[in-house]
Amino acid sequence: MPHRNNCAHERRNVIGKKLRSLRAAKGLSTQKLSEVLMELTGVYIDTSSLSRLEKGKRVVSDYELVALAQVFGISILDLYDEPVKNLCSHCRKPFPETAIISSVSGDVLCASCAAKEIINIAISHNSLTKDEAEEMIKTLTDFLDSDTP
Ligand SMILES: [Zn+2]
Repeated sequence: MPHRNNCAHERRNVIGKKLRSLRAAKGLSTQKLSEVLMELTGVYIDTSSLSRLEKGKRVVSDYELVALAQVFGISILDLYDEPVKNLCSHCRKPFPETAIISSVSGDVLCASCAAKEIINIAISHNSLTKDEAEEMIKTLTDFLDSDTP
């Protein structure tokens, strides 16, 4: 799908909200963030561009994305406002099988992590011993691995 760049409501990046909250958490002004970026990475983004990035009104380039992740000491994926689709939010592995939305946390999980979550809930309710649970996890994981088309 081509983006309609002439539309004023079009979101031009997927890091704006996260960027704003990261900057706020560090107590940095856009001016200070601009300076730190330049100092640590040699990448210059002026304060007005940073504001537009945070509002989702400006496209972020690949090298700016790398520099921002570096400044906050996080991975590029962690700059995204929403979890990347088809990446398990627990183990971070991409998965070919259908995503499972956890009914507990609302996270997108791979089948193995979803199975583990269900079993952990059973343990926390004292209806399974740890040994029984680990046996179940192994059986389920083997089953799910063999079930992939
Ligand atoms: Zn997983």
